[in-house]
Amino acid sequence: MSIAQRLTKDFYSHQTLQTLIDRKGRYFDYRSNFNYFKDDNLWNEKIARLLRSHGYRNFDKLILNQFDDLLFGGTPTLLQKRQHYYQTKVKFCPHCLYEAKYHRLLWDVSLVSVCLKHKCNLIENCPSCGRHIRIHDLIGGACTCGLIYANVVNTKTPVESVLSAQKVIQSLLTGKKKNIRIEGNFSLTAREYFAGLDMFSKLLDGFPAQLLSFDNLEASFIELNYNLIRGDKRDLEMINFISTIAHELLVSPSKHLASIVEAIELKRATKRTIRGKREIFDRMLANGKFEAHKKIYSDYHNTSNQEFARMKTVMPNELKYCSLVQARKILQCDDITIAKFVQLGLLQFVEGKFGSRKIMLVEKESVVKLAQRRKELLDVSQVAKLFDITGGVVRAIAKRNLLKMEHGKEKDGYGRRLFHPTEVYVLIKEVEKQCVQIPEDSLEWVPFRYRELLNRHYHFSYAQTLEAILSGRFSCGKKTTSIQTLEDVYLYLPELTKMLAKKQGK
Ligand SMILES: [Zn+2]
Ligand SMILES: [Zn+2]
Repeated sequence: MSIAQRLTKDFYSHQTLQTLIDRKGRYFDYRSNFNYFKDDNLWNEKIARLLRSHGYRNFDKLILNQFDDLLFGGTPTLLQKRQHYYQTKVKFCPHCLYEAKYHRLLWDVSLVSVCLKHKCNLIENCPSCGRHIRIHDLIGGACTCGLIYANVVNTKTPVESVLSAQKVIQSLLTGKKKNIRIEGNFSLTAREYFAGLDMFSKLLDGFPAQLLSFDNLEASFIELNYNLIRGDKRDLEMINFISTIAHELLVSPSKHLASIVEAIELKRATKRTIRGKREIFDRMLANGKFEAHKKIYSDYHNTSNQEFARMKTVMPNELKYCSLVQARKILQCDDITIAKFVQLGLLQFVEGKFGSRKIMLVEKESVVKLAQRRKELLDVSQVAKLFDITGGVVRAIAKRNLLKMEHGKEKDGYGRRLFHPTEVYVLIKEVEKQCVQIPEDSLEWVPFRYRELLNRHYHFSYAQTLEAILSGRFSCGKKTTSIQTLEDVYLYLPELTKMLAKKQGK
């Protein structure tokens, strides 16, 4: 029961007892039903003391101040009070009123728009004459037009999404529930929930209602107004609308968040500055419990809309694409080389946006992968060292395709021949497959070395010999169980001599 309810209007006097009580300093405060305790009010403290002395122990339960911590995390500003508490009019549930004729304090909280007990929308305008409902009329029981409030029967049943949002809002507000689980499996305290609800409501401020045709929510207004900065007003329908969508954005962002991000950042659909909206997004991204929101936000920017500038500032690490300048830095190469990589299909250009400009982007992951692979690549001289052969022989082997090139003149027109270590390994394994096991002290086998072949004036080149080994036309052996390099390979001397004789015989 509120204080105001206990005080009826003295119809014939210049003012009411209630406005007298609400008197602030010298001036009269005519806000008729603000059930809010104010320190600077002339009579508030005196009456509170009087009530307490008469045994009203739960005085705090009679005033809206009890919700301050939950809704604002402390003392509210004048604007916050206007946003969240009904001050000059009331709303009510006629069925509740029929059961017991008193004003429920919870009705004065803006966010409360539905009676959960009777599953109906609260009423804030007289169904007969359309007047705002004043608390003294409500307590008196009838509107100025004669309608008896408790007799109203044709109340509206809210849609399911409104009902489920209201269940959460009201149970957290009244302390029935202490926590709520949101998408991403994080648990919010009641205070965190209302801070989040406030944040998403602010995000919706200035939104054209037609863009938000979610969940059969009715909207007879054009634009959402949550902030009420210019002293504007909003009705219960709008509160219902904003709080339900804000609730869904907070609790299950996968429903609408992506389309809201698109409408705000891409279509610039709200009548507010984009900077203000982005500050809200930044707060959302900085909140550790909004992992699901963060993912939806970055997925949206990374895939649906490569708005590079935005991602670069807010989430550089989640950036899916990078600019050519960055790619050049990562790959340590020039633009021509990058263009070549794109030609070769190793990278892909994507057209993105930098503010309103178009910009060429490449997928960051593929750039990093390519850079990693390029770091591992061996050039001709490195391979030559590995096999103890000359660069010319490496080139000859590569040309015969015995060692697969990563890049090279013959393969893709690339200036330098480069090899990946795995291909070197593959070649060694291929040779090993052909090797027979030979005794450690055998003199019939000579090492397969470039120098060895040269010294014997062997007319087959190293590359040709290797080719013959791989095709099985030439015997080879190993003295160890496995070979690490081609230096561990041995050739069969009688076979070599026969070849030499053949040559000399000619
Ligand atoms: Zn009710
Ligand atoms: Zn009326």
